[in-house]
Amino acid sequence: AKHVAPGSHVFFSQEMADEVQERLSISNALQQALTNHELELYFQPQQRVKDNRPQGLEVLLRWLPPGKKPISPGIFIPVAEETSLICDIGDWVLQQTCDRIQYWQEQGHQTGRVSVNISARHFHSVDFVSRLSLLLQQFPACRHRLTLEMTEGVILESLHESRSRMAQIKALGVGLSIDDFGTGYSSFAYLRELPVDELKLDRAFIQYIDQRPQDRAIIACLLELARTLQMSVVAEGVETESQLATLAELNCPAYQGYLRARPMPEAELLRWLAEQ
Ligand code: C2E
Ligand code: CA
Ligand code: CA
Ligand code: CA
Repeated sequence: AKHVAPGSHVFFSQEMADEVQERLSISNALQQALTNHELELYFQPQQRVKDNRPQGLEVLLRWLPPGKKPISPGIFIPVAEETSLICDIGDWVLQQTCDRIQYWQEQGHQTGRVSVNISARHFHSVDFVSRLSLLLQQFPACRHRLTLEMTEGVILESLHESRSRMAQIKALGVGLSIDDFGTGYSSFAYLRELPVDELKLDRAFIQYIDQRPQDRAIIACLLELARTLQMSVVAEGVETESQLATLAELNCPAYQGYLRARPMPEAELLRWLAEQ
């Protein structure tokens, strides 16, 4: 706990006011960014562990204000998530992603499945499923090629509601993946009752997998769980050959990470895919 010296509440409240001010200005600028086309999709490949074959992509948003450094989604997504701005951004990301999937399909690029991150407020918005359904009518090539990534927090916020929504999404031919799996404080019991296709194992478990027997044991266990539940697995944040070798020993099916490919813009992605 913080030691509060006499009079220091003035300091803390100033800090809090600055924080609010900063969030407000990020939020306003972000709204502008969406209108001014300063947001861009980046793509990070996912590969099979056994032979490095590309099997899919994750869409990761970037904010590129003209003349400034790119701003990480780790900074602006949490701000957007506080308001319905996240729904506008999320709709835009889905729309753009479907547009690209359709285009790649027409051009004969083999990208595999494409995963999009979905925030809680967006997923739980009233007409999320009907808008998704409309989008798939507009871009029929995206059916069976699109996957939505959600954290367990998003799902557990309202399990009953999530379950019916997830069933409707599955019925549209869209895949469902649990992001950052294992980092929440929940049990895994909820997995039994949800139509989940994939688990993404968080980087926190992968980072020391080749050094800490405990971490290796946890991953082995989660892989076994996924096999039993017939879910696919992607290990996130693979940065070294040694981590990858350990994943291979454990028969982890797929991975994603800086070791082979960072998130990249479309032109670079298509070059990268052509080289594989
Ligand atoms: P995430 O979904 O867990 O995405 C993985 C993050 O790890 C990405 O950060 C990715 O660039 C980074 N990463 C990938 N490989 C490695 C690696 O080998 N080492 C390390 N250290 N990091 C790696 P990024 O792109 O900055 O995105 C941060 C978070 O922002 C994402 O975490 C996701 O929660 C959120 N996000 C990104 N794009 C979107 C979006 O379109 N919509 C929503 N709602 N959230 C998004
Ligand atoms: Ca993700
Ligand atoms: Ca993740
Ligand atoms: Ca995350």
